[in-house]
Formats: sequence, C-alpha cells, structure tokens
Amino acid sequence: MIVMKFGGSSISNADRIKSIAKIIQMSLNRKPFIVTSAMGKTTDNLLQAGENALHGTVNLEEIKTLHYDTLKELGLKKEKEKIEDIFKELANLLWGIYLLKELSPRTKDYLVSFGERLSAKILAAYLSKVKIPAQSFDAWDIGFTSNSDFTNGEVLDESYEKISQSLGKLKSDYSYTPVITGFIAKDKSGNITTLGRGGSDLTASVLGAALDVEEIEVWKDVDGILTTDPRIVKHARPVQAISFEEASELAYFGAKVLHPRSIIPAMLKNIPVRVKNFYDFDHPGTVILKDFKDEKSLLRVITFKRNVTLIDVVSTRMLGQYGFMSKVFQIFNDEKISVDMVATSEISISMTLNDYRENLDTLKKELEKIANIEIKKGKSIITMIGNVKHSSEILEQVFNALKAKGINVQMISQGASKVNISFIVDDREMETCVKDLHKIFFEETT
Ligand code: ADP
Ligand code: ASP
Ligand code: MG
Repeated sequence: MIVMKFGGSSISNADRIKSIAKIIQMSLNRKPFIVTSAMGKTTDNLLQAGENALHGTVNLEEIKTLHYDTLKELGLKKEKEKIEDIFKELANLLWGIYLLKELSPRTKDYLVSFGERLSAKILAAYLSKVKIPAQSFDAWDIGFTSNSDFTNGEVLDESYEKISQSLGKLKSDYSYTPVITGFIAKDKSGNITTLGRGGSDLTASVLGAALDVEEIEVWKDVDGILTTDPRIVKHARPVQAISFEEASELAYFGAKVLHPRSIIPAMLKNIPVRVKNFYDFDHPGTVILKDFKDEKSLLRVITFKRNVTLIDVVSTRMLGQYGFMSKVFQIFNDEKISVDMVATSEISISMTLNDYRENLDTLKKELEKIANIEIKKGKSIITMIGNVKHSSEILEQVFNALKAKGINVQMISQGASKVNISFIVDDREMETCVKDLHKIFFEETT
C-alpha cells in the first residue's frame, strides 16, 4: 500500500485529472490511497470570495466555472447534482458572511473546506469512469480529528486509530481506490478545521502513518526537493535523497515544497516519503529516508523565510541571573508567540518570531519590565541545511560571500539538530545572498 498525494498545481484542470488517473493506474498494483488538494488556486479564490462577501459582494463565478467546466470536459454529467448541492451550501455560507459582516478563523476554515470537498468528488468520479473503482471521503468521516486551532489545526493522536479502523479493511480487500480530502478535519465539537496552508502534505503523512503504508508519494510540479527555491534560482537542481531530519528543518525554515509539520508522522513510523514530479513521472524525484547521510556534500539545501521580526532583549544587569531566561520565555508563552531562532551573548538574547505579527505592543511592554528591547522588522532568515560536521567550512564560505557583497550578518545560530545553520539579513538582501550562496555551494563544484 502507498499514499499518493496530488497538490493544487497537479489537480488544476480536466487534462491534469486525466494525467492523475494515468499515474494512479500505473500504481494500482501498490494499492494507492489518494489524497487531494483543492483544484489550482481554489483555496485562495475561496478566501478572496469570503473577503468580497464581507465587503458587500457575493460572487462565486470563477470557482463555479472551473469546477463545472472540469466536470463537462471529463464527461461527468451524473456528478453535476452533487456538485450543485455543495455550491448551494457554499453560497449560503457566503450570504451568511455578507449579512453578518463576520469572517472569523472558524468561518474561514468552513469556507476553504469546499475546495477539497469538490476536488475529491470530481477525482473519484473520474477514476470510476475510467474503470478504476473509487470512492471519495471527507477526511473527518474517516477519523481526521484536530484541535480547535482554526486555520492551523493540530491532528489529534486519536485520529490514527480511527483512520486505521475506517480504512484498514482495504488492506486485505482493496476493492476500490479511496480518494480523501487533504487539508481539512473536524474538531471534537464537529467544527470544520484546516491544518494550515499546504496542509494536504500533512494529511498524506498522517494517513500513511495510520495505515503503515510502504511509501508516501507527494506529487508536485518540480523534480523533487531542489537545492533552493526555483523561483529564486531557476536552475536549482533536485536532491536525490535526504534525511527526515533535514526535510523537517527545510520545511520548517521556509521551503514551500512541504508543509512544515508534514514529515513528523512519517518519520515516527519510518515510512519513506517521495517527492515526485507530476510533469515527469519517470523522474525518481527526492526520497526522504531515516538516517540518510551524504558525507560527500557540504550542503544539501538553502532555504529562506522572508518578513521575519527580530527581537533583541538587552540587559546588562539581569541577563546572567538565575531565572532571567525563563522570565523572557514565559512572556512569549503568555503572548502565545513562538520563536524560531535564538542566540545569546552575555548581555543579550536575540530571537526571531515564528509568525509575522503586526502588533507587538503587549509583548514589548511586558519585556520592557525586565530588559531593554529592540524590535527589528523586515528581516530574512537564510538557512543552510547540510553537514554541520563541516560547519566551519560552510561558515567560512558564507562569510566570504557576504563580505564580498558588503552584507552584514545580523544574527547566526546553529540548530541543535545539527543539520542547520541559520542567519539573518535584511529582506532586501535575501535574494542576492541566496543566489550567491547557491552559486558557491552548488554551481562551482560541478
Ligand atoms: P502543491 O501544493 O502542489 O503540493 P507546492 O506549491 O506547495 O505544491 O510546492 C511546490 C513548490 O514549492 C514548487 O513549485 C516550488 O516553487 C516551491 N519550492 C520552494 N522551495 C523549494 C525547494 N527547495 N524545492 C522544491 N520546490 C520548492
Ligand atoms: N488547498 C490547501 C492550500 O492551498 C491545502 C494544500 O494545497 O495542501 O493551502
Ligand atoms: Mg502545497
């Protein structure tokens, strides 16, 4: 058994759905469990429709056209009624937003859930039509339960047992191909939740772990995990294999290719994850494995996160004192703000915030009770995922490159996991840095 996940860029129109069916057909002997994202940009379009409703216009035309055209092109006349019912529910919701002038995170999750609910139905119907008997499932009906952290739900442990109970029988009797909505779940009170943007990667990983499959395949529009973001460096090249640890770090430190938390369930069960190219299915892609070590290369991947806030907590008097650090972190905890990078010196602690927040007034006020605070916005974290055994060599080359460009590194930290070195520059310097570093580490050696 395997899990195959198709992202929004793969499932974007009728032709792509036909290709997906071919890919699934080729893997049928491995008993695939399918996870799907919403079609194309549907999630963004639904969020936009919500904003428009809030500001006085209810309009679903673009989303409707995409889904009805797809049905028509795939010759799925019988499905039209089911899809119409979903659109009626969606229109009701938008009128609700329009009338109440309210679009809470909870409502947003309900709103975007329509994308995956539509795509899973269409894909399952098409598979059945081309003689691959299939059935679609809304994730909550097969046990996906999350906490109530709307727009960024955490999958609850109890989900694994529930999923295994609902779909486990297909292990021995694979009588149809299940197509499951990615990204969405329900909390214990029955409210629809989502697992954060890009969350269908996480759905695939949870599903794979719950069913103990042999491999989880995530199908994207690139040849696997690349040496850096191809939108910055066009000729970034695929990495053949990478460890779970490295993959977790690169997802966490901004590489958009995988949802930040998606590796953990697969890692705990030691299930390989393969990132494959939907447009070139013979390409092996990147395989993410336990304990994979590449002793030869210095660096595996360069990632970055833009628009990061840096906070310097400076205190000459108290820093060395017992309990000072815990007071600082308690304040972050009280404000529910999590921190990405930390570096300390004798007189200061520098930290970057995990999420962008416009308003940091309360945090600042609380921290100022115990120290001097400086908040710096508009920073980027650049992260070098690699063999930290060679960190001095990596750092030497990084510093030489930045010095040559007159760029000042404002903070640096080496992760405890020993696979990443991160540093901060100004947002406007990030692209040049990534391009130069990519050249040094990946282009000049070949
Ligand atoms: P999907 O939602 O279809 O599953 P995503 O769009 O979330 O796929 O992820 C694939 C995209 O991630 C690529 O098109 C690429 O632009 C971007 N990306 C950023 N960094 C990397 C990287 N290091 N390797 C591969 N792709 C990356
Ligand atoms: N459709 C969701 C999104 O666009 C989830 C996903 O694609 O993984 O974020
Ligand atoms: Mg994605």
